[in-house]
Amino acid sequence: MELLKERILRDGVVKPGNVLKVDSFLNHQMDIPLINEIGREFRRRFDGCPITKILTIEASGIGIAAITAQYFNVPLVFAKKAQSINLDGEMLTTKVESFTHKRTYDVILAKKFLSPQDHVLIIDDFLANGCALMGLIDLVNSAGATIEGAGIVIEKGFQDGGRKIREMDIRLESLAIIDSMSDNSLTFR
Ligand code: 5GP
Repeated sequence: MELLKERILRDGVVKPGNVLKVDSFLNHQMDIPLINEIGREFRRRFDGCPITKILTIEASGIGIAAITAQYFNVPLVFAKKAQSINLDGEMLTTKVESFTHKRTYDVILAKKFLSPQDHVLIIDDFLANGCALMGLIDLVNSAGATIEGAGIVIEKGFQDGGRKIREMDIRLESLAIIDSMSDNSLTFR
């Protein structure tokens, strides 16, 4: 997606530890017209798939997934990273190791929001080592629902997540795949 790649080149900042900061337009301040185009592009790529629900993980996936859900006219459900007193009923749970915070979270989702009849599109902002996506896939599988695919805004192609997901035969659509990045250069696949 050219618009996105141009924006990454213009405003993305490479930080130590293979972290790309895109907080001026994607996951702190959000450029809504850009995210609208991202939602439209996911809709185009998964057109014809019988998607009944969008799934993401809090926090930074939510805004992107919400706009995407509008294009599919289906509910968005997001997995939560900690036990909350507001959650009742049966829970699906998994563990996710956070790339940015270097710690492991329990991730939970109320069972009533994903059923075996659901066809799920998973959306997230980044794909690095694949832990977040693996956790979400695990939740969909525990619910007995069908995974239609995963839509990622930025895949860091030099990390392992993309390969792992594709090897599982899950359809993965990444709008920008970074091949390499350093302080003064960033290249796309
Ligand atoms: P993974 O679980 O695939 O290793 O990492 C994906 C998650 O870590 C995403 O949900 C995202 O929030 C965060 N993440 C991974 N790499 C980056 C990065 O380079 N920049 C930012 N801002 N977040 C990242």
